[in-house]
Amino acid sequence: MEKILLLNFVNNQSSDEKLLCEAVAAASNLASELGCIWEIGLVGQSVQNAANWVSMAGAAKIYGVEGDDYASSRYSSDLFAAEAIAKKANATLILAMGITRARRILPALSMRLQGRADTHITAIQAVEGKVQLSRWFYRQRMEAAFSRSQRPWVIGLEPGSFQGKAFQAGTAVVELLTLELPDLLKRTQVLGTKSPAGTTQTIRPDAKLLFVAGAGWTKKQSDGQTHVKEAERLILEFLDKTQSSLGSTKSLVDQSGEGNEVLGFMTHLNQVGQTGSTPRHPKGLATCCHGEEPHVVGWRFINERRAINTDPNCGWARGKADVLYVADAFSVMGKVNELLSR
Ligand SMILES: Cc1cc2nc3c(=O)[nH]c(=O)nc-3n(C[C@H](O)[C@H](O)[C@H](O)COP(=O)(O)OP(=O)(O)OC[C@H]3O[C@@H](n4cnc5c(N)ncnc54)[C@H](O)[C@@H]3O)c2cc1C
Repeated sequence: MEKILLLNFVNNQSSDEKLLCEAVAAASNLASELGCIWEIGLVGQSVQNAANWVSMAGAAKIYGVEGDDYASSRYSSDLFAAEAIAKKANATLILAMGITRARRILPALSMRLQGRADTHITAIQAVEGKVQLSRWFYRQRMEAAFSRSQRPWVIGLEPGSFQGKAFQAGTAVVELLTLELPDLLKRTQVLGTKSPAGTTQTIRPDAKLLFVAGAGWTKKQSDGQTHVKEAERLILEFLDKTQSSLGSTKSLVDQSGEGNEVLGFMTHLNQVGQTGSTPRHPKGLATCCHGEEPHVVGWRFINERRAINTDPNCGWARGKADVLYVADAFSVMGKVNELLSR
């Protein structure tokens, strides 16, 4: 008989609740398919709030490890807390939402428990009473469904892959574990976080819209001139007004290395595609981007796709977008920004 533990790190960020609701939905659905019990383990500076959000979700028990030592992501203390909760719960399946903080400790956790770990899991279900996971391989081109006989099985879920459930909040009873964190595990001190310049405000994994800018923004336009400063202004204004996430093509982010005039806020972290990222957003809008296959392959998880291109024969027109606006992106985005300002 399986028993599920949902392990969750509380980061005191606005995304905490959404990620927890998603993870709880995955764990509770699996538990009801398997007919087994499930429990929650929370780690953070203070876990009561998070426990209250999910107090009515049906978990048999909620464990907590809290205190200043667990406020920030630190491998040694996070692993220590996770191991203590896992041993207490003695579960056969340990699920965790695969945020960076969890992902860095999951393989080590499985080693300490003498189990196995799999990460980037996009679906989890019971098939004829057996747990089956799915994940993508080879840069999201092949999907595999598989099982394992070894237990405990540590499973890192891919954020954004599960339909979150909102539960009515209540007052949770948390079984707090009192742990003596050895001094040796406190040697690393987290002083703060720094993000690479330019990307802080432009990459927003939770945004409803992915706005992609292509190299066309920096190319000569119908008047024979480039208009890079105007492109910067239009794009930043749109991002600011809509809080969309900014993606780029490879051609555009490579331009700085080629000595061309560039959009100052764009970095390689924005690149979407075969050699870039594969973000998950409900909608995507590509502008001044040709829609070549190595770029579009990064749109696999964008549900509704639209593009603006002056070329009616661009890649987006060949079945890669739901809607292609054959238009000048400079004037369309200028109008859109004007409408958004009203
Ligand atoms: C191995 C390999 C891996 C690669 N990996 C990636 C990857 O991860 N991501 C990626 O993006 N690419 C990748 N590429 C490159 C990819 O094949 C394309 O070269 C790249 O995506 C093209 O970028 P682009 O569409 O911005 O530029 P371009 O091909 O130059 O297209 C610019 C477009 O802008 C349009 N345009 C110009 N002005 C306007 C205007 N005013 N209004 C509207 N439209 C306008 C033009 O009509 C044109 O279609 C890879 C290539 C290889 C070989």
